Amino acid sequence: MVSVATGRRWVFLFREGNAQLRDLLGGKGANLAEMTRIGLPVPPGFTVSTRACVAYLQGGRRMPEGLWEEVLEGLRDIEQQIGRRFGDPAQPLLVSVRSGAKFSMPGMMDTILNVGLTDETVLGLAAMTANERFAYDCYRRLIQMFGKVVLDIPSERFEDALDELKRELGVIHDYEIPAEHLQRLVQAYKEIVQQATGTPFPQDPFEQLRRAILAVFESWNNRRAIDYRNAHGIPHDLGTAANVQAMVFGNLGPDSATGVAFTRNPSTGEKGIFGEYLTNAQGEDVVAGIRTPQPIQEMAKDPLLRGAYEQLLDVADRLERHYRDMQDLEFTVERGKLWMLQTRTGKRTGRAAVKIAVDMVHEGLIDPREAVLRVSPEHLDQLLHPMLDPSWKGEPLAKGLPASPGAASGKVVFDADEAKVLGDRGEAVILVRLETSPDDFHGMLAARGILTARGGMTSHAAVVARGIGKPAVVGCSALVVDYERQEFRVGDVVVRRGDVITIDGSTGAVLLGEVPTIPPSVGGDLAELLDWADQFRRLQVRANADTPEDAAKARELGAEGIGLCRTEHMFFQGDRIWAMREMIMATTPEERRAALAKLEPMQREDFVGIFKAMAGFPVTIRTLDPPLHEFLPKHEEEIQAMAERLGVSPEAIRAKVQALTEANPMLGHRGCRLGITAPEITEMQARAIFTAALQCAAEGIEVHPEIMVPLVSDVRELMVQREIIDRVARQLFAEAGREIPYSIGTMIEVPRAALTASEIAREAEFFSFGTNDLTQMTYGISRDDAGRFLPYYLEHGIYPADPFQTLDRAGVGRLIEIARDGGRATRPAIKLGICGEHGGDPASIRFCHEVGLDYVSASPYRVPIARLAAAQAALGLREGDV
Ligand code: ADP
Ligand code: MG
Ligand code: MG
Repeated sequence: MVSVATGRRWVFLFREGNAQLRDLLGGKGANLAEMTRIGLPVPPGFTVSTRACVAYLQGGRRMPEGLWEEVLEGLRDIEQQIGRRFGDPAQPLLVSVRSGAKFSMPGMMDTILNVGLTDETVLGLAAMTANERFAYDCYRRLIQMFGKVVLDIPSERFEDALDELKRELGVIHDYEIPAEHLQRLVQAYKEIVQQATGTPFPQDPFEQLRRAILAVFESWNNRRAIDYRNAHGIPHDLGTAANVQAMVFGNLGPDSATGVAFTRNPSTGEKGIFGEYLTNAQGEDVVAGIRTPQPIQEMAKDPLLRGAYEQLLDVADRLERHYRDMQDLEFTVERGKLWMLQTRTGKRTGRAAVKIAVDMVHEGLIDPREAVLRVSPEHLDQLLHPMLDPSWKGEPLAKGLPASPGAASGKVVFDADEAKVLGDRGEAVILVRLETSPDDFHGMLAARGILTARGGMTSHAAVVARGIGKPAVVGCSALVVDYERQEFRVGDVVVRRGDVITIDGSTGAVLLGEVPTIPPSVGGDLAELLDWADQFRRLQVRANADTPEDAAKARELGAEGIGLCRTEHMFFQGDRIWAMREMIMATTPEERRAALAKLEPMQREDFVGIFKAMAGFPVTIRTLDPPLHEFLPKHEEEIQAMAERLGVSPEAIRAKVQALTEANPMLGHRGCRLGITAPEITEMQARAIFTAALQCAAEGIEVHPEIMVPLVSDVRELMVQREIIDRVARQLFAEAGREIPYSIGTMIEVPRAALTASEIAREAEFFSFGTNDLTQMTYGISRDDAGRFLPYYLEHGIYPADPFQTLDRAGVGRLIEIARDGGRATRPAIKLGICGEHGGDPASIRFCHEVGLDYVSASPYRVPIARLAAAQAALGLREGDV
């Protein structure tokens, strides 16, 4: 790679930079430099560095010393290459001033085109191009953009004037306005500026340039840019670069155009160029959703653009080979000649990310290791979302473009602020807009899905939705959106604010009401990618599964065993709750045994199913954990029903409920404390486990039961439970004349257990970190009550992250390390795993890898994510690398 002496300069010519200098030049500038370096057609220009932006923002908003001189020098370089002078009345050079930070923040910051046009130079431009209409079109665009970005004049002021003119002329499109009327429009625009600011639109090209650069710097701190950075974890102190680049013109007539393209389909990953263009248009016209652009392949059919299209295919191919990744391109065709204005790594859906990574390995562009690093856990998360049930028969209400996949249902809202309020409250909402703008970003983030009436596959709504992984249907032109009445209509169907709809971002369908969805599965490309991931990871991945069905699903998704089977979940199903309640109501051990005897065959049956689904893999079964009151009825009618069913008096039930009521159930009579005070329960569970294991073994199925005792805080608790389990095992094995290897361990979920782990390890062959409870107890926060203050804590940065989602390394993590060391000191081969919800969280999985646990256990649908995250941890990926 070319190295550049970057010194203490502020400004870098495109031909001096390269793709490695993103920190300094921003992504856009670095890639413009790179494209220049490899000989692609890029209009000449230079980059005012992020360093200059930071110096400006931190230095009391004054232009840093020496910067302006360097800008003028850069400008001279452009002038030499183009052969025209900035501000020259006869042959004026025009430039764009373009924002571009280290990380791409599409549409979040500002860009100004046609800088350098004045009442004087516009005449030169008209003469030079022999196109007066064009010259005034450029000028009115400059005044509008400069007005909005530099002078803070709302765009609507200009849009309204434009719309009025079009109405007056009876034309639909901008390009139909004749020159003399555009001239009048420019006049009107200048008056808007005069009115709004009290000063005329600046007639000095150099003043325009200077203020444009500073406005781009300022745009780093506009609200939508800050929101975007917060949502994507981008630091706020990086600053943006400002790129100054000679203008090329897509609005010079029918042989000119502007467009955007991806080198592969960003939604499906399919190979082949994918994009949209508009003839006789400039800059943002394509993505603004004003005119509906044409698919890029249409360029080939246009004799005026065919040559440029072929060039574009060639450039796309070269860029993909050069960057070895899918690229997102911006280009302009000026009188048949192609100019490249931007390239960057293309944002993509999860589906596309997987397909592109796998395809590129097959194409020899990257190796499996790189493929595994390129797909983020969030990408997989998208793929593992529900889709519309294909067997559901019904007609969609309308159809739009499938802009971002996945199905979502929710209440219709028309306003981003309202979407945010409801979304934050946990309500499912679908944000419905004519089209979205960067000002809607916070609402899009809070909504389950996005639906727009206008715009193409590269419209703001589509690009942003794909970036944040939200289902989106865009350009649904059958929709008549009425913000005033807070409703939209399709034909004579009226959907009001608050009505529930479903959108399917994979097909573009919009449906009334909540439509059933089906769970996703793993196959094809994803299976291949995960196979590669498995070769790199060291951590084993198990699943938390309570039923044979869940266990089978987990196996299918690649689980290598069960890390947590919660037996009590079985007790809630169907008729079992009655046997459970009988057990709870029992007043003597005999009565309790009789009730337990009813439960035992059901438990055994479940265990047989689970052992079979997990044949050959370990299955960790936890003995009864929750406080018993959870199994009792809460409402009077339920109490009556229970009294009838069990033949006991309602008073007795009420008394029992009363007796089981605890001030603080989380710290009450639960976990191993149940099996200790009522050993019959543990006995029954052990019998169910071992008889199931013996039955499977007799059928030739390999079983590895691991029995896990919850909520141990003192080694003696585990001794007592262990004694029962071992005794039952000995008895049953003797009767059956067959031994099954099994192990007994405990959850580490009470801080005291972690601190005394060396003692507990005498009785435990494995530790499984129950990080949900361990987090509650380490923080002293009841998760069930955390809703009252945790959101405040997160919003105000008192906690950096929700500790129930992302494992707290400093506290909870420290306890895990202490327990690990204590456990290994006593029993070097002790098996260590994690079964809290953190087992499916990528950052927490990285921690588990780093501290040397043996496995993580996650809910079945997070197993693929855990496999990928474990591989990425092993490959040394750090946060923010993807
Ligand atoms: P964004 O970061 O919002 O995409 P850009 O700086 O890329 O903003 O500018 C938006 C669009 O403006 C570009 O895609 C391109 O179409 C147009 N544009 C920018 N600079 C030039 C230029 N020098 N000549 C012609 N068009 C330009
Ligand atoms: Mg751009
Ligand atoms: Mg627990």
